[in-house]
Amino acid sequence: MKAINLIAIILFTIAGISCASNSETSAQTNLEELQFAKGDVNVTYLGNEGVLIAVKEKKVLIDGLHRKYLEEYAYPPDDLREKIEQAKGEFSGIDLVLVSHIHGDHFHPESVGKLLMNERHVMLVSSPQVVESMESGFADFEKIKGKVNAVDFEIGKESDLPMGIFVRYLGLSHGSGRHASIQNLGHVVQVGSINFLHLGDADTSEENFEPFDLEKANIDVAFIPFWYLLDAKGREMVDRQFNPKRIIAVHVDVNEAERIKKDLQAADPRIRVFTEILETATF
Ligand SMILES: [Zn+2]
Repeated sequence: MKAINLIAIILFTIAGISCASNSETSAQTNLEELQFAKGDVNVTYLGNEGVLIAVKEKKVLIDGLHRKYLEEYAYPPDDLREKIEQAKGEFSGIDLVLVSHIHGDHFHPESVGKLLMNERHVMLVSSPQVVESMESGFADFEKIKGKVNAVDFEIGKESDLPMGIFVRYLGLSHGSGRHASIQNLGHVVQVGSINFLHLGDADTSEENFEPFDLEKANIDVAFIPFWYLLDAKGREMVDRQFNPKRIIAVHVDVNEAERIKKDLQAADPRIRVFTEILETATF
């Protein structure tokens, strides 16, 4: 082993990850086994449930291109959204775009279409419903249709589609009533040897997750809608179902962001809460 790699691994081992609390957790033990130097893993918050995951040269965008929808949902301001659409700066070289579902606080077909036009090697993989929305909502769809891929969607079932990055596409219910017809995909994304879990707006019922045995999926970072985490019962369910080493709370109501952040961190200091657009978690 090269000396410089050894030093990097030792430094990383000592430092743990920066978005964690200082308390000793079993999670740190597991992360020590990863062969990454500190700083190789970056997650950038893009409003609501939008995140850019970057591990070394690999980049995955989940629910990152959305526009103003309802007052309570954070969204990237115009200049930032245009930068992502144009694949500029830190948003160049995105390999994979994932969209959990068609709701406007997670997805805008024109914005995703622009990114697919502007970034040469990017691919979109999502539900048939999102693909239909791209066809009807992006005028130049013909030019990008070769980059648009649908996976089967059925609640309780999962799909995969090899794209150079391993992703499990999970059919998760968005709930009953007006949301019953929404195809909501959860994702387990493996970048390098790190596993990220993103739930979209999955209904919180435990039966929704049971078919997938996610507690055995070795989840390093779970992006969890904040309402799952508000009470002890919900937090226990998150641990039981997902067994995540790190939790990042997302979909935080902008009008109550400070209170939610304070409450969640008081309840469990392992929870990181994303509230500021472009804030990052670096491991
Ligand atoms: Zn939704």
